[in-house]
Amino acid sequence: MSETGGNKAAVVSIYGQALAPETFDPTPEIRTLWDKVYNRMREEFGEAIFRSWLKPMALQASYHGTLEVSVPTRFMKDWISTHYAERIRQMCKESGEGIDRLEIVVVHGHVSEETTVETAPKSIKSNVNELAEKLDLSSPLDPRFKFETFVVGKSNALAHAAASRVVECNVPFNPLFIYGGVGLGKTHLMHAIAWEMKEKQPDKVVMYLSAEKFMYQFVRAIRAQDTMTFKEIFRSVDVLMIDDIQFIAGKDSTQEEFFHTFNALVDQNKQIIIAADRAPSELQGVDERLRSRMSWGLVADIHASTYDLRLGILKTRCGQLGVEVPESVLEFLALKVTSNIRELEGALNRIVAHADVTKADITLESTQDVLQDLLRSSDRRITIDEIQRRVAEHYNIRIADMHSSRRARNVARPRQVAMYLAKQLTARSLPEIGRKFGGRDHTTVMHAVKKVDELIAEDPSFAQDVEVLRRTLTG
Ligand code: ADP
Ligand code: MG
Repeated sequence: MSETGGNKAAVVSIYGQALAPETFDPTPEIRTLWDKVYNRMREEFGEAIFRSWLKPMALQASYHGTLEVSVPTRFMKDWISTHYAERIRQMCKESGEGIDRLEIVVVHGHVSEETTVETAPKSIKSNVNELAEKLDLSSPLDPRFKFETFVVGKSNALAHAAASRVVECNVPFNPLFIYGGVGLGKTHLMHAIAWEMKEKQPDKVVMYLSAEKFMYQFVRAIRAQDTMTFKEIFRSVDVLMIDDIQFIAGKDSTQEEFFHTFNALVDQNKQIIIAADRAPSELQGVDERLRSRMSWGLVADIHASTYDLRLGILKTRCGQLGVEVPESVLEFLALKVTSNIRELEGALNRIVAHADVTKADITLESTQDVLQDLLRSSDRRITIDEIQRRVAEHYNIRIADMHSSRRARNVARPRQVAMYLAKQLTARSLPEIGRKFGGRDHTTVMHAVKKVDELIAEDPSFAQDVEVLRRTLTG
């Protein structure tokens, strides 16, 4: 896991705990692992528990088979430890990467000063870009994350439009705050803005980095007793983009510094762009002033993806990869892999890689085979009858209404939800499903699937309803 080794000099982490120096920063593999575990927690424990207890968990570090995550309060730590930690540890273990311990720490954001001093330049050079690079302040941009490769749909139209405006106009709103769930394209959009800025306004200094890196570098500057350089650099950029701002929850001194940077830049009419996994008002552990300050500009949320968007993204990806995948397979993936885009792309990559290795054609069967683990929920042989019963119960309508031709909204909508779940959770074809719903046509089922998908993207409480149903059926 670690690339350096042998160096045993203790580095003190920001909450005053010794970590192995080479593992302070989790590797991309560990980050991916944590993303997966995070998603699984949501699926397994359910939305309510996830929101109340697990969502605030943040990845901190990994070392010697231990994964360290932080929570904002002691109480939360105790609760998670007694109720969920063991299962989370198992999830980590199952995800590979050799993690078999979970360490939960409480992070209030107090900074430990006792540490080695590193040297840093004493004066600011004129070239901020160069200096920022030298000091490793900004993060590299992913060449795949451009506007050209970003597929626009209903769920992300606002965020996309806002991002485009920022590139075209001079500080149209400040800050731009983009938020949405994991893997829905926030980072992609931010990189796209940065790339476009670099191309269209090359004289501007654009800085992109994660809140985690901001904190890390800030702490480093404190240790090196050179916060002047840090402050000056951050206050002389034209565009500052901070990704995953939720990370600074509970980290008071970092928040304080960010707040000052933020104000200094806004005063100079410099653009700030922030991404987070939740709305500014929901950022627990973030100072009230900062929360309200962050919502002064434009707040754009990215909703859960729709079927059409997923299909569009898959087609774009096939184009990029230069592979041909049968339409039926793409449709199948767009229907089944709905949790997030990263997972969807992962699924596509897997079937493409598999076909490449086995030199076999990609078919619906091979896809189902290769993605068995991902599609597990549909293996449980949930029946359409069961779905109809549960959905009818949930919405308090009669089962007979699943088959009837009544079109009143209060029965038609649940019926559509049931069709949607039937498509997602069973291996039945559209015509088969139609037959089970009072002999309806397959186009009616398709329409229902799309409609529900749209509503999920538009209406969070509806989305939660469907999610609850899906979970009671699969769990
Ligand atoms: P987030 O930062 O919201 O967690 P990312 O920006 O990292 O998500 O997106 C996860 C993956 O999904 C990336 O590979 C990204 O390119 C892809 N992706 C997300 N949304 C879109 C979209 N609308 N069009 C194309 N690719 C997308
Ligand atoms: Mg991201």
